[in-house]
Amino acid sequence: MSTSFNDDESFLMIKRHYPASIAHAGAAPIMLPATDNSDLIARYAAMIDGLLLPGGDDLEPTRYGEAQRWQCGNVCPDRDAFELALCREVLRLGKPILGICRGIQLLNVALSGTLYQDLPSQQPDSLAHQQKQKPCYASHSVRLAKGSRMAAIYAAENVLVNSHHHQAIKDVGEGLRVTATAPDGVIEAVEHASHPFCVAVQWHPELLWEHAATKVHAKLFEAFVESCKSAK
Ligand code: MN
Repeated sequence: MSTSFNDDESFLMIKRHYPASIAHAGAAPIMLPATDNSDLIARYAAMIDGLLLPGGDDLEPTRYGEAQRWQCGNVCPDRDAFELALCREVLRLGKPILGICRGIQLLNVALSGTLYQDLPSQQPDSLAHQQKQKPCYASHSVRLAKGSRMAAIYAAENVLVNSHHHQAIKDVGEGLRVTATAPDGVIEAVEHASHPFCVAVQWHPELLWEHAATKVHAKLFEAFVESCKSAK
């Protein structure tokens, strides 16, 4: 699991639900401190069985060739650099990747895709992707693409998800296919067409699986961990 910085960048941090979800699925979660040392990044990639890219701040729009709109949220350039390098190295090694929220955006940009910097201003007809209820409750549905890994994992065509994002994928990155869309057409999941397990979602499954109504989301972590074990 890559990690965030706190607001004054003094501490590395990750919300406890991410390691809890990995442990619940049967694997040992390990926090990877952000670094600009490329040798260390290569060693991280060699050491881990799979990479979880968690949620967090917005990516710097220059990473996908855009000037920053004023609606873009807080950015952390050092974290961007670390995660992009780590993600590309893990992709190169063909090890499993699970991206969540910022993680789907990071993966997309790592593969030369682009983002909406702010859905409410750039897609004003989109539904409320910053839901008002607590993040542990689902607020909108997504349709899973037939024949996708996502559809197989969830064993469903439609799934209820939570929604805590003001950005989303615009142009899909190279090699990725869209595997879940919201009713307004916003891209909510992608997977790599030729990679053994490279799956990313715009929602937060780590906050949903503990609740009976949305426990299906544990399956995503179970599938990721299973893939990590079989890739060893
Ligand atoms: Mn959403």
